[in-house]
Amino acid sequence: MIGYEMLIGGQWTGAISGTTFESLNPYTGRPWARIPRADVGDVELAVSAAAAAYRHWASLPAGERGSMLRRLGDLIVEHADRLAEVEVRDNGKLFAEMRAQTRYIPKWFYYYAGLAEQIVGDVVPVDRPGAFAYTRHEPLGVVAAITPWNSPLLLAVFKLAPALAAGNTVVWKPSEHASASALELGKLVQQAGFPDGVVNIVTGYGSEIGDALVAHPTVAKVAFTGGDAAGRHVYRTAAGGIKRVTLELGGKSANIVFADADLDSALNGAIAGIFAASGQTCIAGSRLLLDERIHDEFLERLVAKAAQARIGDPMLPTTQVGPVTTRPQFEKILSYIEVAKQEGARCILGGRAAAPDGSGGLFVEPTIFADVTNDMRIAREEVFGPVLSVLKFRDEDEAVSIANDSPFGLAAGVWTENIGRALRVERRLNVGTVWINTYRALSYHLPFGGFKQSGVGRENGRDALLAYMEPKTVLVNTGPGMSDPFVMQ
Ligand code: NAD
Repeated sequence: MIGYEMLIGGQWTGAISGTTFESLNPYTGRPWARIPRADVGDVELAVSAAAAAYRHWASLPAGERGSMLRRLGDLIVEHADRLAEVEVRDNGKLFAEMRAQTRYIPKWFYYYAGLAEQIVGDVVPVDRPGAFAYTRHEPLGVVAAITPWNSPLLLAVFKLAPALAAGNTVVWKPSEHASASALELGKLVQQAGFPDGVVNIVTGYGSEIGDALVAHPTVAKVAFTGGDAAGRHVYRTAAGGIKRVTLELGGKSANIVFADADLDSALNGAIAGIFAASGQTCIAGSRLLLDERIHDEFLERLVAKAAQARIGDPMLPTTQVGPVTTRPQFEKILSYIEVAKQEGARCILGGRAAAPDGSGGLFVEPTIFADVTNDMRIAREEVFGPVLSVLKFRDEDEAVSIANDSPFGLAAGVWTENIGRALRVERRLNVGTVWINTYRALSYHLPFGGFKQSGVGRENGRDALLAYMEPKTVLVNTGPGMSDPFVMQ
């Protein structure tokens, strides 16, 4: 078993209490790493270290901070495969997927390193005599980054790269189910030469240290990715200190297939939307909306193709569906399958736990429900597993109305060869990202986030940098002195 330490103020350390917890490998069910179990005292140390490092880091020219981010990017390129392997041990997702992510992550550091040098304010032609006015952008201070287990490094880098490029320091709390890759990244942060305290990593349970971190008066911004229950709690706690907040929460995204789509491609898109990553992705296309004219034929092909998915060891290149990450998640998925059956949805594929190779892993069969209506829980609540709800629609209006009838608004897919239809439908969908004739594609260039209860704010893209900065307005009086103290000048 590998023992890890946390990174606080440039030092590797255990928890003050000396306690640890085990990280389990979802494929074998066995513990493989020992992680420090931080408490409130450790959070205090990490926030103090971040606060102490802030002035110096923020005062560096953006180009110098950028050089360090680029070095970190280069080190990740060198270690990408190893980082991916660590992630697979923690969350059981396919090595092929985690490696694609760890190989892509350096781009975030390169992109924000470049952008940070381009932050400019405005000289504003203000309408008062003798006034010279300008704006600047300043970093916020200490940022708390709280991340989930499903794409542990990628979702953290969405936060770390812009936060650090903008001149903030960070306290990062990874998920208790996938902390190891964060601590491995911490080693590369040290190697890249970041000053002590610029990046701090505390590990432990959200229920034990989440409040201390979010409510800490020194923390200026909370960047959170996770479930909506914890997200609501974080939002409320952060409100106590009027903190800046980014929330990336759940989804129940509609993947809409029109009869005039390239159906072969749409079929792959439907499968990628829900069975890739065993459905454990916030952007899962968990509601498949099928045009009634192709419904039966498409469903038949979908079932035939999904039934062939190879379930098994996530490290093998031939595996297509790996285990689910945690036992509570596994049980939650199975209980939603029961709920769907009780609600009258028709299970046409899967519906059970699987044991493909006697590994002891937590597997759920790719599962498809037909005859789902949008008022069923299986169509409204996030399952976060390989469970697809299929709904039928008559026309564009009905497709849009079903897609939008959801508390969530993270993403949607639109499949059609008719460009007019694609753009008409896109405009009417209340979601943060629409994919037209593709699904599950993200980039550092593109703003990502949700409408409605899928979140607050956006990560990635140009504007994400400004979400880690505060604009400041400066007005200089170059004319005569102030005349009347009782009248607003
Ligand atoms: P989770 O909400 O259980 O945990 C997320 C993080 O929050 C973990 O680090 C956890 O320890 C911490 N946390 C838990 N309670 C907390 C509290 N009271 N205060 C502060 N921190 C707390 O989510 P999860 O199970 O790790 O991840 C799955 C969820 O994440 C799904 O709902 C999924 O949709 C969502 N997600 C969203 C996105 C997105 O970008 N929109 C991406 C991936 C996952």
